[in-house]
Amino acid sequence: MTELYKLIINGKQVESESGATAQINNPARTNEVVGSLSVGSVEDAKKAIDSAYDSFGGWSETTPRARSQILFRAAELLAQSESEIAEILTREQGKTYPESLNEVRLSSAVFKYYAGLAPTISGRKVDLTDPTEFGLVFKKPIGVTVAIAPWNSPVILMAVKLAPALAAGNTIVAKPASSTPLADLMMCGVVNKAGLPPGVLNIVTGKGSEIGEELVSNKKVSKIAFTGETETGKTVMSIASRGIKRVSLELGGSDPMIVCDDADLDLAIDAALVSRFRNCGQVCMSVKRLYIQKGKYEAFVQRITERIRKITIGDGFAKESKMGPLHSKTQKQKIMGQLSDAVEKGANVIYGGKEPTESGLSQGYFYYPTLVANVDQTSKLIQEEVFGPVLPIFKFSTIKEAIDLANDSPYGLGSSIWTKDLDLAMTAASKIIAGTTWINSFHEPQIDLPFGGLKESGLGKEMSIEGLENYLETKSVVVNSKGKKRAWLD
Ligand code: NAD
Repeated sequence: MTELYKLIINGKQVESESGATAQINNPARTNEVVGSLSVGSVEDAKKAIDSAYDSFGGWSETTPRARSQILFRAAELLAQSESEIAEILTREQGKTYPESLNEVRLSSAVFKYYAGLAPTISGRKVDLTDPTEFGLVFKKPIGVTVAIAPWNSPVILMAVKLAPALAAGNTIVAKPASSTPLADLMMCGVVNKAGLPPGVLNIVTGKGSEIGEELVSNKKVSKIAFTGETETGKTVMSIASRGIKRVSLELGGSDPMIVCDDADLDLAIDAALVSRFRNCGQVCMSVKRLYIQKGKYEAFVQRITERIRKITIGDGFAKESKMGPLHSKTQKQKIMGQLSDAVEKGANVIYGGKEPTESGLSQGYFYYPTLVANVDQTSKLIQEEVFGPVLPIFKFSTIKEAIDLANDSPYGLGSSIWTKDLDLAMTAASKIIAGTTWINSFHEPQIDLPFGGLKESGLGKEMSIEGLENYLETKSVVVNSKGKKRAWLD
């Protein structure tokens, strides 16, 4: 009998009201069951919300320093459980074990970061025009926070919501993606053991299409922190608007990378490869469109193709694997459809563009890393988010042309420019419409920097001080300190 992963409500591991269960299968070997879990329903979502609501009063009145100590302990416990969580993450999501370990370590670091920031939460006194009064600005937790995570990096994308929300004094109902619930259930179990009062951190499983509306619309919920597809984000925002709930949205991306003739090609090629092909291309902030200036285009294509050819794909636990499988059949079919659409519009596949036939890979959702050129701007490969290992490459002449192409997308998450001309790079950084622009640097999350999208890539920031402000309300208080009466009341 394998262990049944359960929901956590009011500090206890519980089975769902309905008794429904599901199995999670390994994307690298689809006939292998990774684990079984209890699947939540609307009833369970309501119970979890009630539990978070009832515990808000006590938790929100703890001091930031007390919360800080619990978060430091949570960071320690996560570090102690890193191999256990990383192992389940690779088995349910498909990414390589070193990638999973990095994700869990970053999550522990995020808890430590917000443990450090919690005691800095403070209001201020303001002198007002009328000297008989003064103002106070309070920073208060928002209330019950629903934290919704996707399947591509479920642990870190849950951690960047839980840690600042708890630091600010909010209580939480976490909702993992239905195909990657196990690592999140494990992480929430570990964080609860750090000394959180029962009910402060709850987690319910279940399909977003079934329990999402309850989680987002319930009157006891004040804030929704969501990461997922842009279309789902629009639905969440629309439901949340009925109650003017606080919403932060981390959505899709189609990050451009612009490489100028004077760039260091070795650095740029390394960055493009890691950024596009880690986690089998299923990263919101990976390079999804590569623009190379005409003087270096041929050399770049030749050199990057040689490197792509050497990427070993395979099971995430195999030492030689650099790239695991796609996460699901749906993802694989979507990628193949986007590539066929581009080929029908005249694109040519330079490398990859097919499923591997090697023995040992036929049981999983594997796909070759793919480089494709001559992609029409109207293709789905450009206009949609490509969440898989397919990299379209383009030639450009002038920097203006490259920036116009980079901005011709509904998304605005990340971007990068590669050049030795820092003036040019700074000008480009101010003209590219994206939440982040890296200059000669790699698309990688940084705890100290706010991360989030512009345009249809989202609303609000995660990580850094801004990530904490996401979970705080500002309230003003005016104090009549000298007992002065208002003239018209006399
Ligand atoms: P998704 O939108 O399908 O699902 C995300 C989460 O929302 C899941 O937990 C799902 O169960 C839940 N959900 C679905 N319908 C819901 C509803 N009606 N109400 C409430 N919740 C609902 O996204 P996905 O396929 O899991 O994740 C991949 C997407 O996430 C990609 O578009 C990727 O770019 C994006 N992403 C963005 C960032 C970022 O920081 N901007 C980071 C990682 C992933």
